[in-house]
Amino acid sequence: MHKAVFLDRDDTLIEDVPYLSNPACVRILPGVVEALREFRKAGFLLVVVTNQSGIGRGMYAEENMHAVHGKMRELFAAEGVVFDGVCYCPHAPGQSCVCRKPLPGMLLDAAAKLGIDLSASVMIGDKPSDVEAGIAAGCCRNVLLLHGRGESFHEGSTSGGGFEVADDLLSAARLVLEGQSAIDLKKMK
Ligand SMILES: [Mg+2]
Ligand SMILES: [Zn+2]
Repeated sequence: MHKAVFLDRDDTLIEDVPYLSNPACVRILPGVVEALREFRKAGFLLVVVTNQSGIGRGMYAEENMHAVHGKMRELFAAEGVVFDGVCYCPHAPGQSCVCRKPLPGMLLDAAAKLGIDLSASVMIGDKPSDVEAGIAAGCCRNVLLLHGRGESFHEGSTSGGGFEVADDLLSAARLVLEGQSAIDLKKMK
């Protein structure tokens, strides 16, 4: 069984462009490449889980999103970072699917397909619905990225359980991986 880090896409990995459908607008956020390399080095699979309601709302076609994801994979691959999965929910909020975050459908699906132990896995994103999906899926660490919004978001709990906060993906990686090495060291004693 693998452990994985589930990653929200917009404002977690790449710049948030509302209803992004143009591959030319894909920009990797600062520190993200380094964070993903550290997770990879620590043995985590990298799985993107993104809500793409723009498809369900008719704002852009599924093929536009695939072009965006192709560009995203290409930019990351140029930095030596390869994703094990890029999962998306194409539905609008009213379509009562089981994959739109905060529901855990995308994580459960990826776990079944890729042989992931959710209880050893991590969810990271910039919205409460991201950490709620991770908690609902049974991830052991769930990190909400603040991007400087420290005033309005606090470390705490949602209906499902606890989550942690970090300012950006690189800080989140350090938070998670330092915690891990502490556990590993304890086990070795
Ligand atoms: Mg986001
Ligand atoms: Zn869905």
